Amino acid sequence: MAVNLLDFDLEGLAAYCERLGEKRFRATQLFRWIHQRGAGDFSQMTDLAKSLRDKLAGEAVIQPLPVASEQISADGTTKWLFDVGGGNAVEAVFIPEYGDAGPAQGAVLPPRGAGAEGDRGWASLDRGTLCISSQAGCAVACRFCSTGHQGFSRNLTTGEILAQLWWAEHTLRARLQTSERVISNVVMMGMGEPLQNYAALVPALRVMLDDHGYGLSRRRVTVSTSGVVPMMDRLREDCPVALAVSLHAPTDALRDGLVPLNRKYPIDDLLDACNRYLDAAPRDFITFEYCMLAGVNDSPEDAQALLALLKGRVPCKLNLIPFNPFPASGLVRSPAERVRAFARVLQDGGLVTTIRKTRGDDIAAACGQLAGEVQDRTRVAQRLKRIHVLHPS
Ligand code: SAH
Ligand code: SF4
Repeated sequence: MAVNLLDFDLEGLAAYCERLGEKRFRATQLFRWIHQRGAGDFSQMTDLAKSLRDKLAGEAVIQPLPVASEQISADGTTKWLFDVGGGNAVEAVFIPEYGDAGPAQGAVLPPRGAGAEGDRGWASLDRGTLCISSQAGCAVACRFCSTGHQGFSRNLTTGEILAQLWWAEHTLRARLQTSERVISNVVMMGMGEPLQNYAALVPALRVMLDDHGYGLSRRRVTVSTSGVVPMMDRLREDCPVALAVSLHAPTDALRDGLVPLNRKYPIDDLLDACNRYLDAAPRDFITFEYCMLAGVNDSPEDAQALLALLKGRVPCKLNLIPFNPFPASGLVRSPAERVRAFARVLQDGGLVTTIRKTRGDDIAAACGQLAGEVQDRTRVAQRLKRIHVLHPS
């Protein structure tokens, strides 16, 4: 089987080049071609010796993920569905943010040149966040999460995690007709629990951070976890990046029923791990995510309990996420006024609290909806067969 060069961080690629009998610095050139310039083919790499290019072509590949579909929302949010084989698919979502001058609402990002309106949308693009997946399915099985309802299929490889970023960055650059970076932030908030795919995650994070790779700062790469405590400690040692923790409840009794992993790592242990993480973290706070479920965790008493739990315990910011409903959950989104009231209790108590804007509603790209279309494996397998599979060139 061919070696997939997307599987390597720079150190791994250097070791691979040595095995080929090449100098280590060749790895840096190769790495830059792949990640900075988006090369998918060795013949493009004109500053590498022909003999090396031939050697690479004989045994290595830069393996993209086949794109099964792409959808662009009215707000510019772009969602790709990638075929990962075996009837499984994962999604990545690009969320553009516009400068003050830009059309924040109703901005469509068609291929550049499609018309003056669209071009203005691109021109005012201010920063872009890519949300990527770490697993096909997820074993944690949170009650409110459609990926969780799907069950666990398999871990993605490092190359599959990075292929999502590689594809999005270079596809968007081509559309924008720019050689500048388009994606400024990466959040591991797609499908899967990243800390249950640790071995593949860490090299992928290193490539995102590497100056010869995507050059993102540690503050702009966020791992989101449902609370895999031992792996939080390892991430702090191996590759500290910004951390988001999916809390969703102020008490163990409630959290046990929403995030089954809580039975193994209860809230008190989780908060201790957050504080240990902060010793090495690039930001001086943890982001706690809290999905607002009507009549389940959204009462004023819940807000008071959350305030009492967190205040003075962990330096943090709260991010309230309006629940994105899907039929199998049997759960309902909290009314907007209920969410605002909840936020006020926290804010008045001195906790920085934001309410997440929902984006890409019209293409089901909001959190937790990623697996919506792929729940029925058979249907997806058939669909993937029907859809013309695109490869980058
Ligand atoms: N497994 C990790 C990261 C992926 S989920 C984690 O749980 O943190 C990313 C975020 O989306 C988490 O905060 C998760 O709780 C939230 N989420 C999942 N399903 C959701 C839904 N239906 N509506 C709103 N947010 C949801
Ligand atoms: Fe897995 Fe996160 Fe969904 Fe929970 S919320 S099932 S941990 S992807």
